Amino acid sequence: MPITDSKELAPAPSSASTGKFRQLLESAPDSIVVVDQGGKITLANGMTEKNFGYRTDELIGQSIEILVPERFRDKHVHHRDGYFHHPSTRPMGTGIELTARRKDGSEFPAEISISPLMTEDGLLVTAVVRDITERKETQKALQQHANELERSNAELEQFAYVASHDLQEPLRIVASYTQLLARRYKDKLDSDANEFIEFIVDGATRMQNLINDLLSYSRVGTRGQEFESNDLNKILETVINTLDLRIKDSTATVTHDSLPTLPTDGRQMLQLFQNLIGNALKFQSDSSPVVHIGVVQLADEYLFSVRDNGIGIDSQYAERIFQVFQRLHGKGEYPGTGIGLAICKKIVERHGGRIWVESSPGTGSTFYFTLPISQGDS
Ligand code: ADP
Repeated sequence: MPITDSKELAPAPSSASTGKFRQLLESAPDSIVVVDQGGKITLANGMTEKNFGYRTDELIGQSIEILVPERFRDKHVHHRDGYFHHPSTRPMGTGIELTARRKDGSEFPAEISISPLMTEDGLLVTAVVRDITERKETQKALQQHANELERSNAELEQFAYVASHDLQEPLRIVASYTQLLARRYKDKLDSDANEFIEFIVDGATRMQNLINDLLSYSRVGTRGQEFESNDLNKILETVINTLDLRIKDSTATVTHDSLPTLPTDGRQMLQLFQNLIGNALKFQSDSSPVVHIGVVQLADEYLFSVRDNGIGIDSQYAERIFQVFQRLHGKGEYPGTGIGLAICKKIVERHGGRIWVESSPGTGSTFYFTLPISQGDS
């Protein structure tokens, strides 16, 4: 018989060590079965009795296929023959998973490790069989949980999209007719009516803004584009040009490191930088804004930062500000709806990264986010 891998064959234990060997077998936490070239069981430990329901004397001399469900037996004989022609050690964790069969016909998933053993009587094979029922059940439960989460996320996203999209039309009618009402009947009714009309127009406009923002938020997931290689310097230049007027008006200084080229959704990168730099310019006290966009390369990702010298954020709000419609200021103080950072978070996470802020009131803020060096759309 051709044995191609003889260097891997372990010698059989000497008679002096047989007792110890037996003890070792019996204390093993897994079933251990030794099989000869004909596929007959020559040795089985106590754990085999326990796991498979056979007494050892019922197993010795039987074909190893007794421990395999009927439907897999022919295939198993074939694999076994192949193994004896090319024996090699295959340790646990190398992916041999089989279904094992107990004496009563019930089955359980098993992980198997096998190793050849050269003896005076020829080549034997030791198989260690581990019952992985629990592990499989945990894996299955985790997978089900992940599927369920993915499904409900997609459903929520779709819901937010449809709701905000469909709400736009009736709201447009409410807003435009109240504006018309305001124009045509202002000062023709009493002063209370003037005030009421103002409230309605203001409320309708605010609701329009919120719904538009919600729509942009849900579009990050549902209307994202394929990732393409994008030079982030170019994207940043476009953002700086778009914000030019605000930069000049506030006498701001905006500088940046040289940014990398990465596989990204270009439109979303534009949104990300625009929201972060827009906020850095907006949340200022009296001084001229000084904003720097930095980047450092780490092991498998880039770490970006957008630093400002603005009003800063109390650390207790560091997570809350990334939630939808969460703001720390009234709209009279600083304009906005509170969607910008939620969109940033969604964009960064869609790209496989993380986003956070480090800041304290009065000392400015630095928003950090990471982007993996190589990535796929998740
Ligand atoms: P918006 O700008 O419309 O308020 P965002 O989601 O962009 O919404 O920001 C949420 C809140 O986080 C802001 O209202 C503000 O309180 C805080 N914030 C964001 N960026 C900064 C910044 N650069 N400096 C200080 N506070 C900030």
